[in-house]
Amino acid sequence: MDITLVQGDITAQTVDAIVNAANSSLMGGGGVDGAIHHKGGPEILEECRALRASRYGRGLPTGQAVATTAGRLSARWVIHTVGPVYSPVDDRSAALASCYRESLRVADSLGARSVAFPAISTGIFGWPLDDGARIALSTVRGLSTAVEDVRFVLFDEEAYGVFKAAL
Ligand code: ADP
Repeated sequence: MDITLVQGDITAQTVDAIVNAANSSLMGGGGVDGAIHHKGGPEILEECRALRASRYGRGLPTGQAVATTAGRLSARWVIHTVGPVYSPVDDRSAALASCYRESLRVADSLGARSVAFPAISTGIFGWPLDDGARIALSTVRGLSTAVEDVRFVLFDEEAYGVFKAAL
């Protein structure tokens, strides 16, 4: 597996699957989630609604992942995963690691070979970037998967630099 770092907008990536840092409602939000729905179009939300009406009536639990179409994005699938909200008193790192592991498990089940990840939980959910980068990289490195190309897409120079140092 090749792990690469890219600075930029995840919605501009051409890959088999783009991972969305979603929230459990699957109904969209800010940050990566907002950008994915905005650029991917209404088909993604339609499939999310169907998931809420079937398998995930109470929402997608933290640490889990589920795929939908990628709509108009340059990808075949969006894999939605729900990161934990950072807490300084409660160690939620296992849930954050689970997001990366479960997303790659879903990618494997779909036959995806290239996957783009954002830095899950490091935006609105408040996870410190350096710790988020460490968890992301160590989790992905330790997995056995048929995905050949794992790309971390970091929105700004700071996040890119932190991931680069952690890599
Ligand atoms: P969370 O709720 O899991 O914290 P956010 O979407 O708020 O998710 O942020 C996750 C990370 O993604 C943050 O580091 C944020 O800067 C970054 N980010 C926001 N928009 C984009 C984008 N379009 N492409 C890539 N990364 C993005």
